[in-house]
Amino acid sequence: MPGIRIDKNHCKGCELCTQVCPQKIISMSKDITVRGYYYAQVHDPSRCIGCKLCAIMCPDVAIEVHSHGTVFELVDY
Ligand code: SF4
Ligand code: SF4
Repeated sequence: MPGIRIDKNHCKGCELCTQVCPQKIISMSKDITVRGYYYAQVHDPSRCIGCKLCAIMCPDVAIEVHSHGTVFELVDY
């Protein structure tokens, strides 16, 4: 099963990942981070299909997707 990890301390609450996820399993928190942002969280991880669209879309490289033994993460150059 794919796994997704969102680093809430890198999230700025833009909500792009919530819109791009085909499974609609990412939503925004009701709490805020130390930087003052509502952050993205996966509310139904068992339905993740590992498409990685959320990680590709995230402008802050806050999302990692583990799928079929590989880790997909973008590097911030
Ligand atoms: S990998 Fe795809 S299905 Fe899974 S949370 Fe990200 S966008 Fe949604
Ligand atoms: S796309 Fe990235 S920065 Fe934007 S809400 Fe999702 S995790 Fe946070």
